[in-house]
Formats: sequence, structure tokens, C-alpha cells
Amino acid sequence: MKRIKKSRVSTKVASASVLASFMFLTACGSGGGGSAASKEQDASGKVTLSFITQSSPLAPADPNEKLINKRLEEKTNVHINWKNFTKDVFVEKRNLAVASGDLPDAIFNADYSDYELLKLAKDGAIVTLNDLIENHMPNFKKVLEEAPEYKSMITAPDGNIYAFPWIEELGSGKERIQAVDSMPWINVEWLKKLGLDMPKTTEELKEVLIAFKTKDPNGNGKADEIPLSFINKPGAEDLAFLFASFGLGENPDHAVVSNDGKVIFTAAQDDYKEAVSFINELYKEGLIDIEAYTQDWSTYLAKGKDQRYGLYFSWDKANITGANDTYDVMPPLAGPDGEVNVTRTNALGLGRGKMVVTSANKNLETTAKWVDQLFDPIQSVQNNWGTYGDDKQQNIFEFDKEKEMLKHLPLEGAAPVELREKTSVGGPLAILDSYYGKYTTMPDDAKGRMDIIKNIMAPNMKAENVMPSVFHSIQELDRLTTIETDLFAYVLRMRTEWYQNGKVEAQWHEYLKELDRLGLKEWLEIKQGGYDRATK
Ligand code: CA
Repeated sequence: MKRIKKSRVSTKVASASVLASFMFLTACGSGGGGSAASKEQDASGKVTLSFITQSSPLAPADPNEKLINKRLEEKTNVHINWKNFTKDVFVEKRNLAVASGDLPDAIFNADYSDYELLKLAKDGAIVTLNDLIENHMPNFKKVLEEAPEYKSMITAPDGNIYAFPWIEELGSGKERIQAVDSMPWINVEWLKKLGLDMPKTTEELKEVLIAFKTKDPNGNGKADEIPLSFINKPGAEDLAFLFASFGLGENPDHAVVSNDGKVIFTAAQDDYKEAVSFINELYKEGLIDIEAYTQDWSTYLAKGKDQRYGLYFSWDKANITGANDTYDVMPPLAGPDGEVNVTRTNALGLGRGKMVVTSANKNLETTAKWVDQLFDPIQSVQNNWGTYGDDKQQNIFEFDKEKEMLKHLPLEGAAPVELREKTSVGGPLAILDSYYGKYTTMPDDAKGRMDIIKNIMAPNMKAENVMPSVFHSIQELDRLTTIETDLFAYVLRMRTEWYQNGKVEAQWHEYLKELDRLGLKEWLEIKQGGYDRATK
């Protein structure tokens, strides 16, 4: 048996980062210089790599028991020695492993933040991937050629790529599934019962909600209907969708981009002020759920299941009021000046820190070639959702050999999320919008939402630009975090007060001054700089 001799971690690190790496390892007390990274190759030439990863508690404790990984080992002649942790303890275990200096070859499903990636790179714990991608990863390069915007999004400000990404597209541009986060769901049975049409303007919405409150649409003789409910914080259950009837609208990250490429802070615009005044009008009529400011998901869900809402907000109605016809999406409303708009969110299916290769890895080329297999379209689809041909359990797909295409199978009662967690492997991968109909069919649970976005929302989206996912520097991330902590909390507090006390007009000037004091100008400069870098 051929063995490759163990060597000390720090001796293999490129000279420029030797000092940083040495200091990192010493500070963390590794001392002995050994590592968990593998160096063995058996007689058949099979290489063993050691990876740390995370998976669902529903999945096998040993990821090699998954059919996907069995097939990969056969195909690549690489054996992965997994150290697998369940999601709930993963971050702690991952951080402990890295801090001990006992580095694995790579961390799979690492889910590192940008800040963490830059810190690990600075400490010499992970390697840059640019050359490996260039020289050994044709599949990944093909993805970046077809969708070049991701190349800038995964590249740090210093020009280096420090992690392999997870990319999942469903639709593109204005029609991508994340383009609208919080969707408005209206009780169409109540509309029918009261002989009302679907509201088309903000004024008509107010009249409809008043009718829901006063005309007993559920017919039980009690005024127990809740005309309007939401969870008052940025997210899919917020009512921010209504804001776009007044202008630019609002987003969870308070950022939109003008058509000439200028980053705008939504919560300092006049149209935002008008939208807040409108919500105050609804409040004064007693139309807003009194629990909107305090309720958590379970309270929101309980009232939703009882179908007590006239209008509420969520990613998908199935999550709150069930997959039935009592509720339907409310199309965007015209505001006081007759304009209709839908604000595009800045969200997209990108996880930048999905997999890192450590400086202890002695098989960089083999590792890169193995990872490249994950970017083969047919492999990416399976790694994300699950596989085919498993005779021991339900399959997500069947494989059409003639068309070389994965086709979703009927679930026959199995919960899609559970089946995916049991059989998929996650990690770095890419599913581009162009893959649907070519390499895979689209998952059923996404289709309904995609249709709403395409047919009802996208035609009304006025913004041509969104914020890309910007890779900021450590200094920028430090400043953004510091500013946003106070700035965003202040915005939410004032909005909430104004909904209820109606003083938005009177206090607006003072509010703008406070936004400046909290660092809005610097926030805008950093965001604009990032936008310009990412789109140039
Ligand atoms: Ca009633």
C-alpha cells in the first residue's frame, strides 16, 4: 500500500500567508502540527478525503449510505471520510474543529457568512480557489460562462474566490421565484358572499376590509372576522407589498435600485411616508389585527387555519390557510395617483459560503475535480432535491435515459421536504433556469408560485434593477452591521408607532435627521460602491 507521508500543515502553505497561518494555528493551540486531513491513497489509486458536513436528523448518520454519494464514489474513485453533524449542532462543531487547528480537507455544506470566509482566508485556514477552478473545473466554468453574474458575486473584493457556491434559480429576472417575498392573500369566499369585486385600488381595499369587519361574511352572527393581519417585521408575513401602490415600495433590506443604477433607501422616501399614512387610515377604522405587532408564527398560523383573515401575507397561502380555494392572491393595487407597481426584492437563490477547502488539504487537484462533478447539471439537480432508482425508498425522480433528463415523480403522500432531506446531499451546486425542461422538470410546489409571479406580478414591476448579492470587504461588513443594527431598529419602531398614532407627517423631518445621525449616508455610500463593483 502506497502511503503519502504526513507533513506539517504550515510547511505547505504558500509563503505570503505562512506567518498568518502559523499564528492562527499556534493561537488555537494545535501545537503538534497534525491534522484531520487525509493523505492516503490505496493500491487502486483511490484517494480518501476527510470532510466535515451537516445534514438533517432524518438523513443517514453516514452520508456514504446515500445513493447519490455511493454513485459519486464509483464515478470519481474518491472516497470521502465524512464527519457529519446534525444541523442543530453543526455551527458549533464546525467552529470547534477549525479553532482546534485539526483541519479536515474541506467543509461541505459549510454555510459560512461572507465575514467568516474573509476571516478564515486572512487566518490562512482556507485556500483560494481561482486557479483550481480555472485549471480543473470545466463543469463549474461552464456554469459561470452561462451565468457570468455569479462570477462577480462569488468573488471577494480582493479578487479571490474563497468558497464554492450553491446556486438555485427558479425563473429569472422579474420572474424569479424570489422576486416577490410577501404575497397578499384575500378571502375570495367572503368577497363572493358580500357581492364584492376584487379590489383594484387602495381605496377599494379599504372599503372591502370595512365590509369584512361589519357585514359578518362568515355568517356566525359575531364580529369575529379579522379584516387585515400580518407580522410586523421585515419578511414574508409583513404587509410591505401594499407600499408599492404609493411609489417605489418597501423591501426587507430597505434597498431598491433606480433605473439609472442609484441605490435608494426606501424608508426615507416620500412614497414610504404616504404608505405609512394609508396603513394608519386602516388602523383608525379598526381593520388591523390587534396582535399584528406582537404575534409569532404559531399565533398567526392558528388564526389562519381557522380562516379568520380577510387579507393576510405569506410566501405561499398553503403555509397559513391551506391549499384550498378560500383565498386567492390579490393583484397589485393602484394607489391614489392611479399608478400600479410591484417592488422587486433583492433576494436570490445563492449561498456563497457552501464549501471551503482548507490549507491542510494535500490533494487540491483531486478535490477540485471531485467538486467539479457536483456542477454537472444532472448531478446538481440530484444533490439539491434527491435522486432516482433507489429500490429501498420513495424516489423524487425517475431518470429518462433517452432524454438524459430527471423527471419529478408523484410524491404519493410523502412530504417533499422530508424526502429531500433524507436523500439529497446539498453542498455546492448550480441549477440555472435554463435547466428546466432540459435536464429536469420543475418541482410542483414551485410551479403555482412561479405562475403568479409571471402573470400577475412581473408585468407590474417598474424597476429594471435590483441589488445583486454583493461581496463586501471585512471593513464594509463591519460598518454595515454596526449601522444597520440601530438604523433598521429605529425605522421599524417609528413605522410601528406611526401606524397607530398617525404622526408620520408631523415627525417626518425629525425622523430624516435621525436617519442621518444613525449613518444613513455612509450606508448608502457602501451599498452604492458594492452595487457599482458588482454590476460593472
Ligand atoms: Ca362573523
